[in-house]
Amino acid sequence: MKLKVKTLLVVSSTMLLFLALLSSVLQPYLFKDSLTLDRTNTMKELTDVKNTIITEMDNLNGTNRDWAVWDDAYSYMTGKYPNFTKVNVSNDTFENDQVDFLVFLTNQGKVFFQKGYDTATHKPIQLNKSFAETFIPIMQNADVTNHTVLVNTDLGLTMSSFQKIYRGNGDGPSPGILIMGRIMDHNLVNELGENLSVNLSLHHYQKKTASFKVIAEPISETKIKGSLYLSDYTKKASYVINLVVKRDFYLQKKANIKQLFFYIILSTLFLIMLIIFLLNRFILSRVHDLSRQLDDIQDKKDIHARIKLFKRHRDELANLENSINRMLSSLEEKHNAVINLAYYDQLTGIPNRYLFFEELNQRIEIQQGPFSILFFDLDGFKWVNDSLGHSVGDALLISVCERIQPIIAKNNGLLARYGGDEFVALLPTFDKSELEEIARTVMQEVGREYQLDSFKTYVTASVGISIFPQDGDTAEQLLQKADIAMYEAKRNGKNKVQFYHDLSNANSYKNILELEKDLKTALFKNQLELYYQIIVNGRDKQITGVEALLRWNHPTRGIISPARFIPIAEESGLMPAIGMWVLEEAVKQMKQWHQQGFHLTLSVNVSKSQMKDYSFIEKLDHVLNKYQFPLSMLQIEITESDIEHYLNEIIKFTGELKKRGVKIALDDFGVGTSSLLFLKELPVDTIKIDRSFIIKIPAEKFDAILLSGLFEVIKGLNLDVIVEGIEREEQIDFVNSHIEGKLQGYYFSRPIAASELENEILAKRNGS
Ligand code: C2E
Ligand code: MG
Ligand code: MG
Repeated sequence: MKLKVKTLLVVSSTMLLFLALLSSVLQPYLFKDSLTLDRTNTMKELTDVKNTIITEMDNLNGTNRDWAVWDDAYSYMTGKYPNFTKVNVSNDTFENDQVDFLVFLTNQGKVFFQKGYDTATHKPIQLNKSFAETFIPIMQNADVTNHTVLVNTDLGLTMSSFQKIYRGNGDGPSPGILIMGRIMDHNLVNELGENLSVNLSLHHYQKKTASFKVIAEPISETKIKGSLYLSDYTKKASYVINLVVKRDFYLQKKANIKQLFFYIILSTLFLIMLIIFLLNRFILSRVHDLSRQLDDIQDKKDIHARIKLFKRHRDELANLENSINRMLSSLEEKHNAVINLAYYDQLTGIPNRYLFFEELNQRIEIQQGPFSILFFDLDGFKWVNDSLGHSVGDALLISVCERIQPIIAKNNGLLARYGGDEFVALLPTFDKSELEEIARTVMQEVGREYQLDSFKTYVTASVGISIFPQDGDTAEQLLQKADIAMYEAKRNGKNKVQFYHDLSNANSYKNILELEKDLKTALFKNQLELYYQIIVNGRDKQITGVEALLRWNHPTRGIISPARFIPIAEESGLMPAIGMWVLEEAVKQMKQWHQQGFHLTLSVNVSKSQMKDYSFIEKLDHVLNKYQFPLSMLQIEITESDIEHYLNEIIKFTGELKKRGVKIALDDFGVGTSSLLFLKELPVDTIKIDRSFIIKIPAEKFDAILLSGLFEVIKGLNLDVIVEGIEREEQIDFVNSHIEGKLQGYYFSRPIAASELENEILAKRNGS
């Protein structure tokens, strides 16, 4: 998910959470006093109703009092004015005085007169006889006299005023009580409501209650009900006047809060947008820019590229930009340093062979010809290095380089140090005379005197030249051929130029190159074969073993001797593989002969590269185990001339062989330095005396003395001996007269193929 989307999500969810929290915390608080206000308001309205009722009751009382102290009424009660009611109590009287009933009671509780008229419906009311009697028990109470109280009657709840009747001047005694009342029914309550502009309703109330008690409670979210309780004087009946009104405060507040939240949400949205906008402007877009530029750098793998934010502020991002740039710079430096180490010669500062190879390959790839390779090798450098020391040698190389470099550069060429005292140059020309002139200029410059510290010295250069594409179309071929030409120049007396092209076809190097090419595929093309040469006992001439000798059946050149191709195999790194093939092939053959009843020992030659490679020992273990070949029947021949160069490796190698009980023979003894001291270092079992020792025996006296002395040493050291190159009977006699040894040579048999050996020799032996 993109950073911008994430930020938007985080900011909006935080804001929404904040809003939710705000509303859940604020809402109860905001609504809290709205109920109180609604309640107070309702109570106030009901209190108005109550006060109006009380006023009505007071008015009623006033009217009643006027009547009660009216002389005519008094006269009526005292019987002096019997027509009083007929004259004064008409329907109009009720209408005018706003009274619904009128009752005259004597002090003794006798109903003197009663009449009813409903001022609401404007109709007379037929009062029961018992109607007035309702008041009799009440009138006895002193607190009702001259008051208006609520009395429950046949007509329902009434406000009833009790006034004692007196004369107009207030004199008594009072003959009775005048009760005037108003019916408190729906009509009256509605009328009250209308006057006060409220909606009232009257109901019976089941429980007892205090009169004129006012309460208000909400009955729904939007409505509140106020109740004005009315109780009959005798407490026998209760009524309630209800006022149901909308919760104005609450609703108003709700609307306000809604609006408030609407604005809050609106501002939150605006805030979110503002935050995102600002974050984007100051951070996100820059982070995006940073990441895009880093991706770009990675894609293009451009080590020179740097980050540049389009908006610069002094903040951590700017620091990050600087840090990344510093990191990129340091990476570039490291990269350059690595390139320098990998591609440049640390002594002279010019390209090394790897850079040269790359350049060469590139030119070959794009067929950017013509061009030539010049291979320089210093003549006499080894002497300077060995006799004047490495630091002088190094200084000489630097000076040589300084002299060659300008000449090559002037000719638009590339100079590289190939190794040691070898330099190579790539020149964009194939013109022989031009190349020769350049080579000679170089040789002239190189050949001038050098003043190194306190030494004066001279070196010369031998130059070999190969040309693309006539001398080769790969970098390896071109370099190899320039190298060959350079060797030829050296062979011809050094300080010379040699074109590869001018070498004669018989040139050994040319041949070697071809053989090397063919040898690479010889193993897979089954061109290699093993020949076997027998080894016999000197005394009874019995065959004791065979030596496996490698042959290469070249498709055009016929059989090639190992002496010719093994050094090439060694040079080109093919020998370990060939050697392993020889080992397995020979052991397989010997195992077969053992199974046929010919219990012979097997001698296998190994060369220097095989001895350096531990995988030969692993192969040996594998092969011996695979064919279950007795270790004591195997003899490995190491060549004396290899020892002095690879003594440590050979000590290790022979040690491993000894551990396994394999015999070791020192081959070609007498060809190399013939240092008998090696015998002290190596666990040798057998000495194979080279044929050059025996060749002139017994005619050559010197050789005879040397050989007999050697036999004495071998006997003294208790070693076995095999004398190679036996061609004549007298040689056998000479050996037998000096030592009990074994013999090998054309006299007994040349090396021959396995099948031939089987047919001719082994069969004969069997027969004999
Ligand atoms: P080597 O191990 O000293 O083998 C003896 C060589 O002397 C053989 O030459 C053999 O043909 C030759 N020879 C034996 N008796 C006579 C004789 O009476 N007169 C003359 N003139 N020569 C005789 P070859 O087979 O050409 O082998 C040459 C060398 O190549 C071997 O010398 C050995 O060092 C090496 N070689 C041969 N096969 C192998 C191999 O499989 N591995 C390795 N590493 N080297 C091998
Ligand atoms: Mg040998
Ligand atoms: Mg030999």
